[in-house]
Amino acid sequence: MGKLLIVGTIAFDAIETPFGKTDKILGGAATFIGLAASQFDVQSAVVSVVGDDFPEEYMDIFANLNIDTSAVERVKGGKTFFWSGKYHNDLNSRDTLSTELNVLADFNPVVPEAFRNADVVMLGNLHPNIQLSVLDQMTKRPQLLVLDTMNFWMDNSWDELIQVLKRIDVITINDEEARQLTGEYSLVRAASKIQTMGPKYVVIKKGEHGALLFHDESVFFAPALPLEEVFDPTGAGDTFAGGFVGYLAETKNTSFNSLRNAVIHGSNLASFCVEKFGTERMLEINKAEVDRRLRQFKELTQFDIELL
Ligand code: AMP
Repeated sequence: MGKLLIVGTIAFDAIETPFGKTDKILGGAATFIGLAASQFDVQSAVVSVVGDDFPEEYMDIFANLNIDTSAVERVKGGKTFFWSGKYHNDLNSRDTLSTELNVLADFNPVVPEAFRNADVVMLGNLHPNIQLSVLDQMTKRPQLLVLDTMNFWMDNSWDELIQVLKRIDVITINDEEARQLTGEYSLVRAASKIQTMGPKYVVIKKGEHGALLFHDESVFFAPALPLEEVFDPTGAGDTFAGGFVGYLAETKNTSFNSLRNAVIHGSNLASFCVEKFGTERMLEINKAEVDRRLRQFKELTQFDIELL
């Protein structure tokens, strides 16, 4: 069992999809990553910040999954990070209606002593300076450093983001963000340009069209499971990342082959996340269900073809 350190937002989200609308519900990159990673045999901790408007019951969710939250700072009188978004009819694209950084604006992360030698570090979506500060606190180079980010930080903290990119091994990013980061429309070109910016491995998430893993000249593709109904894609990218790092932290194997399997595990868990609003579905899944769907994934992609 490996140690996994997760950094990212813990948030209130207000979501609008063609199927309905929510008030403030539990969200945030670190939340979805933690929930997904808890499906694996890992010891994990979250570094994040909330305000004193954040309900204790939500914190209990982490504790019940054995996720260490001693480094989740609660700011007295502060308001929790808030994001709201509205999905278009195809559910593959969305508009951010509001991003209120609130307590995230002045957050100084402190990595718990016991996780300064973590095997895998997942730098989830938040300010690149916070991601850098976490990296600086590690006492040992982790076996794998994984980064997720989004357009918001490219628009607002480009220089700092470029600094983080230089120090990581893997980036997980969606197709539009890969294009924004590189100015390349072709995802193959974008992936190879990103590899010159730091990460040796580039994972490009394409929503319902699956995910691509690039490394040097090699490419691996995992489809998304064709689902009858997608209800709310919020957190799918983070859930993917959580499954990806959860598997790698459990196995402590960071070969290309193992990263390919990690992409499948990430895609598998993301397929659950989208079935209900917010974190709802991730909070009810069990191992048997996850394994069953993993089998479906295998069948979906397996074929025998004779090659001469
Ligand atoms: P995803 O759908 O995987 O891209 O992630 C959605 C989650 O990201 C939501 O729960 C939001 O709270 C969180 N989020 C949205 N914008 C940001 C941001 N700028 N920085 C960090 N987290 C964010």
